[in-house]
Amino acid sequence: MITTTPSPRLAPSPSGTGERARAHRPGPAPRAGVADALAALAGIGFGATLGSVVATESWGELASRGGLLLAIGRLAGFTGAYLMLVMVVLVARLPWLEGAVGQDRLVRLHRRIAPCALWLIAVHVVTITLGYAQLTRTGPLHELWTFVTTYPDMLAAMVGFGLLVMAGVTSVRMARRRMRYESWWIVHLYTYLGLALAFAHQIVTGISFLGHPLAKAIWVVAWASTAGVVLVFRFFQPIWRSVYHAVRIVSVREEVPGVCSVICSGRHLDRLAVSGGQFFQWRFLVPGLWWQAHPYSLSALPKPPYMRVTVKGIGDQSRAVARLRPGTRVAIEGPYGAFTRHARATDKVLLVGAGVGITPVRALLEDLPRGVDVSVVVRASTPEEVVHGDEVAALVAERGGRLHHLVGPRRDVHLDARSLRRIVPDLASRDVYVCGPGSFGDAVERAVTRLGVPEARVHREDFSF
Ligand SMILES: Cc1cc2nc3c(=O)[nH]c(=O)nc-3n(C[C@H](O)[C@H](O)[C@H](O)COP(=O)(O)OP(=O)(O)OC[C@H]3O[C@@H](n4cnc5c(N)ncnc54)[C@H](O)[C@@H]3O)c2cc1C
Repeated sequence: MITTTPSPRLAPSPSGTGERARAHRPGPAPRAGVADALAALAGIGFGATLGSVVATESWGELASRGGLLLAIGRLAGFTGAYLMLVMVVLVARLPWLEGAVGQDRLVRLHRRIAPCALWLIAVHVVTITLGYAQLTRTGPLHELWTFVTTYPDMLAAMVGFGLLVMAGVTSVRMARRRMRYESWWIVHLYTYLGLALAFAHQIVTGISFLGHPLAKAIWVVAWASTAGVVLVFRFFQPIWRSVYHAVRIVSVREEVPGVCSVICSGRHLDRLAVSGGQFFQWRFLVPGLWWQAHPYSLSALPKPPYMRVTVKGIGDQSRAVARLRPGTRVAIEGPYGAFTRHARATDKVLLVGAGVGITPVRALLEDLPRGVDVSVVVRASTPEEVVHGDEVAALVAERGGRLHHLVGPRRDVHLDARSLRRIVPDLASRDVYVCGPGSFGDAVERAVTRLGVPEARVHREDFSF
């Protein structure tokens, strides 16, 4: 069923409490050039790492027994370790990077770099062992044993390597599908321990640092700064923010079957800068749930002292949300995400939300500047599954926009290039925001790019990383 609805004028009441709300603090626009500057810095760092290793090699050493293998091993070790640092920075939740690039893209880049980094480190372990075995005319296993038992910090480095391999193997798509998200996440945390354990052996045995105190100092600063940003942005800032805002659940109400809204209140929420379309990691502090944080997008702009998320129960944590009691404390981490009004390049937008994916679309709709021309497509399998339908309709009507409902099973209702061209004829001149399952986002992105929307004007929030 495809309907283009003249929207009724409804006053959205996101807090659901009837109390008068204060204005929220708008999320800042990402600083132009931050991502490019950090990418350039990462490139320079990579070049410097390569250069410092190559500079320590000589033709004589390369030609000596085991020399070539040792040179390959050193190069692989340093570049692998450097890429590991880059990977950690990408997911360190640096606010400037998060706002400019978006967490989903950063996570994708992190995943793309991860196999290279791990393979390089594996090559390092193998070639250094074989190289020294050649040099000392012993077997590789004997040489490995000698490393572990006699070289300083080598045992810790080996354990660290084991942890990195464990995190890498469990991240392979097949293995990850079989694991619960939380188990995978905990294994992944060991990456930090693995890197910490491997650090000392680089400093003590790294040949590039012998006689090069400046190179050594730069390497130490790079590692220490990376550890610093992780501690600040992944650990201290979320704790501080949760304590400062003291968020608690006010009420939980069912919106449509299987989907409920959680309305929270917090102190000083008017000081929390957030854009419509962004999400937080939510940790509900009750037995059984406190140890897991899950991403949920705000389904309305905060109306201090209230804010709201709308959650579809699909697994253990999201289903348990429906049973949470008023008064439950909540720890929040964020806001994150680049699915905001700042991503826009034009003053005309198409917003597409599928199922519970309408939640950030609804908040974004509320946050778009007045002059922006909006068309909204709501996709759902049945009319009962349309979440916040009245609120979306009211917000669209307030702006004089157009609202299209595409409701029905997938085999009957297609959101493809043909249907999009029909319902949004001027699509090519719009920015397109899409939120829903990853496969839905892929299909819409393919369709709109076919219809002439440049990739840079397609903004996605997939409800899975
Ligand atoms: C940026 C973002 C915003 C989201 N916003 C909303 C929202 O507003 N409303 C809503 O209903 N859902 C939202 N989701 C999806 C929601 O996070 C998952 O449905 C929820 O985490 C499932 O957890 P579970 O324990 O109930 O199910 P599980 O069975 O543990 O997981 C089900 C699926 O969710 C994924 N998942 C589980 N935990 C996480 C996590 N911590 N981070 C990323 N993916 C995870 C798993 O990979 C799996 O594919 C969002 C997801 C992302 C990535």
